[in-house]
Amino acid sequence: MTNVNPQDSSPQYRLPQKRDIVTAIPGPKSIELQGRRAMAVAGGVGSTLPVYAADADGGVIVDIDGNSFIDFGSGIAVTTVGASNAAVGDAVAEQARHFIHTCFMITPYEAYVEVAERLNHLTPGDHQKRTVLFNSGAEAVENAIKVARLATGRDAVVAFDHAYHGRTNLTMGLTAKTMPYKYGFGPFAPELYRVPTSYPYRDGLSGPAAAALAISQMDKQIGADQIAAIIIEPVMGEGGFIVPAPGFLPAIAKWARSNEIVFIADEVQSGFARTGAWFASEHEDLIPDLVTMAKGIAGGMPLSALTGRADLLDAVHAGGLGGTFGGNPVACAAALATFKVMEELDLPGRARDIEVKAGGRLHAMAAVTEEIGEVRGRGAMLAIELVHRDSKEPNPELTKALVAACLAKGVVLISCGTYGNVIRLLPPLVINDELLHDGLDVLEDALNELTAVRGGL
Ligand SMILES: *Cc1c(COP(=O)(O)O)cnc(C)c1O
Repeated sequence: MTNVNPQDSSPQYRLPQKRDIVTAIPGPKSIELQGRRAMAVAGGVGSTLPVYAADADGGVIVDIDGNSFIDFGSGIAVTTVGASNAAVGDAVAEQARHFIHTCFMITPYEAYVEVAERLNHLTPGDHQKRTVLFNSGAEAVENAIKVARLATGRDAVVAFDHAYHGRTNLTMGLTAKTMPYKYGFGPFAPELYRVPTSYPYRDGLSGPAAAALAISQMDKQIGADQIAAIIIEPVMGEGGFIVPAPGFLPAIAKWARSNEIVFIADEVQSGFARTGAWFASEHEDLIPDLVTMAKGIAGGMPLSALTGRADLLDAVHAGGLGGTFGGNPVACAAALATFKVMEELDLPGRARDIEVKAGGRLHAMAAVTEEIGEVRGRGAMLAIELVHRDSKEPNPELTKALVAACLAKGVVLISCGTYGNVIRLLPPLVINDELLHDGLDVLEDALNELTAVRGGL
């Protein structure tokens, strides 16, 4: 398990931090397990990679055939402190030896209260805040909408193009992309609206200009006084790691405030050190009314949170928010340990360091590779958008080929984007520099090979 070295506060690892491919990918054991899985697991559950995990630590994932991969995905921005962080593992074991569950709604416990205190302090703004805990990101988003509707007495909820907010019925309605998230799963909840976001690479608009468009649509098509909430990811995740043009988010937040609309920052993917700050909202001095969090919150344990203005969260009648497992004590213990590791290792600082190192290399690749339309992101939430030469049309074929080529060489990469043409880099923040550069070498070689050999796939 990754430990913190007491001498220099650097991460220490249990597994060798190296890329080592010893079989064809996938290896024989993974192929066999894939066969069992096909007969047991619902076909609707996808897996991007055909290899099965046996162990993971720091910046590596080892599969059941003994291959050691560099992890550039962190299980979708979850294992920020490493997939087997010692402090998190110890906290989990210690709590599990005492009680694994009592249900906070029946017999409450301190760890839940302490997580709430920490989140009230860590999230942007020093106003009075309250927190409620759940199990998944989608659940946190659903509850943010519940709170906003009750507190405002209004119905309409606005989300944006390229948004991703989850897979439950309400959050599918908020999510933009139909395939695979929504296709055939409707009808969706009423009173959900979608307006344009800011996507500088494709819309060419300044932040204020893009905001004016969105605001005009909200005003004319819905009516400001009908809107309970506006929800947005400060860096759009599944939609393609889109960083809105400067000024876009503050303009939307300001308009929301002046119309008494609840502004919800969905920080499920961008939160917890990932973008070089505790929350991505901080990069533009946003103070959201409500913040939704999950993914990186608890070192891999399932936990999510909704934190925000005390007057909004306390407006809800007792018993109106909750759930059997929400704020499970083991998950809370893991979250407290995770926050501590993030502070001890200064992981927001490490994310900024990775932005310089990895971002620099991606920009160098883009300078000589016409298929890289744009390099973007914040901190260790970085991406390249792959396009066809000249036309700049999305290039999902090259994206797929690149992910497969990197996996075969020992690098786990995940793609995203409405057009399926974005490669995202989400390494654990405890990855060491050597592994980071080795993974980028693999990416660079594979990209060179694919773009040269095929004359621009
Ligand atoms: C992943 C994600 C969600 C959904 O979280 P789950 O835990 O998968 O339900 C919601 N919002 C954003 C921004 C996400 O990235």
